[in-house]
Amino acid sequence: MRGLSGGGVKGGKRERIAQIAAAIESGEVDALVVSTPAGQRVYTANGENPHRALVEAMREGALTVGVDGMIRYANQAFAGMTGYGLEKVMGSDLRGFIEGRDRGKLAELLKCGERGPQRGELGLEARGGRRVPVQVSIQPLPGAPGGGLCVVVTDLTEVEASQQSQRRLAAIVETSGDAIFSLKLDGKVESWNGGAEQMLGRGAGEVLGTDVGKIFVERSRGELERLMKRIERGETVMGVEMTARGRDEGEVEVLLTLSPIQDREGRVVGASAIARDFTERRRAHERLRSVLESAPDAIVVANGEGLVVMVNTQAEKLFGYRRDEMIGRAIAGLVESGMRDVVVEWIGQRLGYGRRGSQREVMARRVDGSSFPAEMSIGLVETEEGELWCATLRDVSERYEYQKTLQERNLQFQEALRAKDRFLAAMSHELKTPLTAIIGFTGVLLMKISGPLVEAQVRQLELIRASARSLLTLITDLLDLARLESGKSELQKGPVEGREVLEEVMRELSAQAEGKGLEMEVGEDCSGVVVETDRRYLRQILANLMSNAVKYTDQGKVVGRVWQERDGGREVVRFGVKDTGIGIGEEDITRLFSEFWRGSGASGQRKEGSGLGLYLSQRLALLLGGRITVQSELGRGSTFTLTLPVRATG
Ligand code: ADP
Repeated sequence: MRGLSGGGVKGGKRERIAQIAAAIESGEVDALVVSTPAGQRVYTANGENPHRALVEAMREGALTVGVDGMIRYANQAFAGMTGYGLEKVMGSDLRGFIEGRDRGKLAELLKCGERGPQRGELGLEARGGRRVPVQVSIQPLPGAPGGGLCVVVTDLTEVEASQQSQRRLAAIVETSGDAIFSLKLDGKVESWNGGAEQMLGRGAGEVLGTDVGKIFVERSRGELERLMKRIERGETVMGVEMTARGRDEGEVEVLLTLSPIQDREGRVVGASAIARDFTERRRAHERLRSVLESAPDAIVVANGEGLVVMVNTQAEKLFGYRRDEMIGRAIAGLVESGMRDVVVEWIGQRLGYGRRGSQREVMARRVDGSSFPAEMSIGLVETEEGELWCATLRDVSERYEYQKTLQERNLQFQEALRAKDRFLAAMSHELKTPLTAIIGFTGVLLMKISGPLVEAQVRQLELIRASARSLLTLITDLLDLARLESGKSELQKGPVEGREVLEEVMRELSAQAEGKGLEMEVGEDCSGVVVETDRRYLRQILANLMSNAVKYTDQGKVVGRVWQERDGGREVVRFGVKDTGIGIGEEDITRLFSEFWRGSGASGQRKEGSGLGLYLSQRLALLLGGRITVQSELGRGSTFTLTLPVRATG
C-alpha cells in the first residue's frame, strides 16, 4: 500500500495537506496516516480501513477485546480455530473459549496486557470440546475507546506435533546401541548420543566441537577423509568397515554409515553418522573362516540371494579363482549341470523340508571354463549374519576314472567268465568220457572176468579206480560250480519224498561204507516227509554230506534222518547226516564252507578230496532257499543239517 504520513496537522502546513489530498484524489496513494495524540489514524480514499484487510488475511487469530475480556472483534482465522461462526464469537467472553484450567492464566495475561505485551501458551477449547494448543500474545490497543487489548492467537497444533516427533526421534537416537553422531563439513562433531559414549568410552562433553578424525585410529583417517569428500558431493556411504578408538585406547571395529545433512537450499552442511560395533561379528566371521579352512573339502558359503560371501583356500585351489574374485559371484555360476536339482533342493529346504542338505553329483566349472565332476552337499547354517548356504564340494574326478576303469574291467571279466563257461562245457564231455571208461574197465578187470589177478594187481587197479573216481568227482564239482556261478542252473521243482532220496544216496555209498566196516542207517520216523524242491540238487547235497560222513569216519555209524518242523513261524524240512567220525575243531567250523578249504585232519590222513564239496553244497542249499548248518565235536563226530522250506518259494 502506498501511503503518506501527514504528521500533526498545523497551520502553515495547509499547503502540504492540500497536496496530500490531491494525491489521494488522483489515486497516487491509498491511505493517509495521521498521527494524533490518541494514536495514528488512517484515512483512505474509499473510506475503508486498510488494517482490517490485513488482519483478515492473517493465519493467526486476531482479536480486539475489552479489558473485561469481551471480544469486540475477531478475524476469520480465530473463528476457524474455535470451530464456531464469527457471529457466535463476536461479543462473547474470550475466557469462554479457553480451557477451564487455563482461564486464570488468561485473566492474568489480560490484566498485565494493559501495561505492556504479554505472551503465554494456553489450551483453546474448540467446538465439541476439542483442545487446540495455542500461543496468546496480548498488548494494549492504543486509542480504543474505554481501553482495549489486541490479542493474537497462534495455533500450536503442528508445532506441538513436530516437537513430539522430534522428542521421539531424540529418544530413539539416545537409546540406540549404535553410535549416532553428526558432523559439520569441517569435520567437527556436532552431536553425540549415549550409544557413542558407551561404545567409544567418551562423553559428549569431551567430543563435541573436536575433530571427528580423533574418534578413529590413525590408519582409518585417510579413508575417513575420502568418505567426507563423497559426503560433500551429496553421496551416502553405507557400511564401511573402520577401526575406531575405544575405551583405554582399545580398538573397536565399526561399520560406518554416513549420510549428508542438507540445508533448505539443498546445500550439504554436514553429515549424520551411524557406527555399529562390528568387533564381535568380525570375530565370529573369523571363527567361521578358520573352521572353513580346517575342512579338507572346498567350501563355498553363499547368502540368501545365492551370492558367495566366503570361501576357503581349498575352494580357491579347486576352482582356480582368487578369493576376492569369488566373493559376490553367483554360486550357480560355479556349477555347470545338476544345478537345477540343487536349486530345487534349496527351495525345498527354504520351505523347511529338512535343513541338512543331501549329497549330489554336479559338474563344477573352473575359472578357465574346464569342468570336473564334484560331489556337492548343501546345508543351511544360521549365523549372526542371517541364514547362509554352505556348499561343500569334493573333486571326484579320480573316483570317476576309477569307476570307469572298473566298469571296463568288469566287462573284460564277464567276457573271460563266458569263455571259461564255454571251455568247461566243451571239456566236460571230453574229460568225463575217458574217465568213465577208465572206471568202468578197471571195474571189469577187478571182476576178474578176463582172467585172474595177483594181489598186487588188485591193489593197483583199486588205486586207479579210486583216483579216477576222485577225478570224476572233482570234474563234476567244478562243472557244477561253473554252472552255478554263471547263473545257468535252472531249478526243476517238484514234490520229493525225503526218505527215498536218503536211501538212494546211502545205497550208492554202501559198498564204500562196508569196505570201512561202517554201519549206515536211516533213522526212525522218517517216512512220509515230502518237500517241494529240485530233486537233483537235493540228491547232490545229501550225497556230498553222506560221502564226507563215510570218508571222515573210521568206526561207528552214519545215520541219515529227515523230519518236518516249525522254525520261526514257517514249516521246514530238515535232513540230518550224523557220523561218529573225527569231528571238526571249533576254529575250523567257520571255514568249513569256504572254497577249497580242507581240514588239517583230512589232509593229514590223506583223504581224497578237493575242498569243494561243502562249498558247492552250501551254494546249492542257498539256491533251494535253505542252508546247511553243522554241529561237531573233535574226535566224537559231526552232524550236518540241511534245512529247506517245505514249499519252494519263488
Ligand atoms: P573235501 O571233503 O573234498 O576235503 P569238503 O568241502 O567236502 O572237501 O569238506 C571240507 C573239509 O571239511 C574237509 O576237508 C574236512 O576237513 C571237513 N569235513 C567235511 N565233512 C566232515 C565230516 N563229516 N567230519 C569231519 N570233517 C569233515
